[in-house]
Amino acid sequence: TKRSGRNGYNFFEPSMNANAHNQLQWLQDLRVALERKQFRLVYQPKFRSPDGPVMGAEALLRWQHPVHGIVGPDEFIALAERSGLIIPIGAWVLDEACRQMQEWIKLGYSDWKIAVNLSALQFADPHLLDVVTAALEKHQLPASCLTLEVTESTAMHDTAASMQTLQKIADLGVDISIDDFGTGYSSLLYLKRLPANELKIDRGFVRDLSDGTEDAAIVSAIVALGRTLNLRIVAEGVETEMQQDFLTSVGCDALQGYLMGRPMPPEQFLQAIRPLQEA
Ligand code: C2E
Ligand code: CA
Ligand code: CA
Ligand code: CA
Repeated sequence: TKRSGRNGYNFFEPSMNANAHNQLQWLQDLRVALERKQFRLVYQPKFRSPDGPVMGAEALLRWQHPVHGIVGPDEFIALAERSGLIIPIGAWVLDEACRQMQEWIKLGYSDWKIAVNLSALQFADPHLLDVVTAALEKHQLPASCLTLEVTESTAMHDTAASMQTLQKIADLGVDISIDDFGTGYSSLLYLKRLPANELKIDRGFVRDLSDGTEDAAIVSAIVALGRTLNLRIVAEGVETEMQQDFLTSVGCDALQGYLMGRPMPPEQFLQAIRPLQEA
């Protein structure tokens, strides 16, 4: 291959061009994805206990790309953040999740909560409260049916500002869940003052659980902390019976993971949980 410059760095490396092109192409595709209705939400159940009733569902975003098929959020949320497109996409997610929840309420599932993930940019957006309020009003959904999940690192980024935002969300009557908890170095003082309702133990700690490991001790400590601070503790990423038994035994309030239920389209979600609800 041709080399340009003394360092052998080639600005015209074909793969680089292809890469730059890819980035632009993905951005272009993302720009039209909303108007062409290529986004879908799938729902993953949160269970109060292994065989108990469903506590609610977390809405997770999927992109039905015309060429690449189903693209997961880890592939495009970063680009959506960098380009600002996460703002309109996030508004769509909120609206669609509220619409779905209202549909479920009409079918009799009124004691669930629907959880929606917020990105850092959405969380910092001055219009966030308006967007949330608009979605609730449009679908006549009580605020108590909605949970907003914010990662611990997002909530910790600018603690004074986020405390205010979280307080406004709480004042609406919407629940706040601190996602990926344990990865973001919250101070105990901050946690104590945080107007949150729920902590989600990061999947990383759940993954390596087995009695006697450090992660088991960390998980027990998080549950104890949550208990003290009056927070609901949810464990995510539960894949094995062993993890499930341990998490239940230390007193987690809810479990979520492939073992109990994968993220599913809404029709399939109802079919999967209906027998449990009636039990
Ligand atoms: P998250 O909020 O921590 O969501 C949990 C992720 O773990 C989801 O991946 C879920 O499908 C996956 N998961 C659930 N149970 C298990 C399990 O037992 N084992 C394993 N290995 N994975 C499990 P997903 O759907 O690919 O979402 C990835 C991340 O993208 C989410 O992490 C969240 O941060 C973000 N995200 C998803 N939907 C949205 C959205 O609507 N808006 C924003 N801003 N971010 C979103
Ligand atoms: Ca989440
Ligand atoms: Ca998480
Ligand atoms: Ca995560």
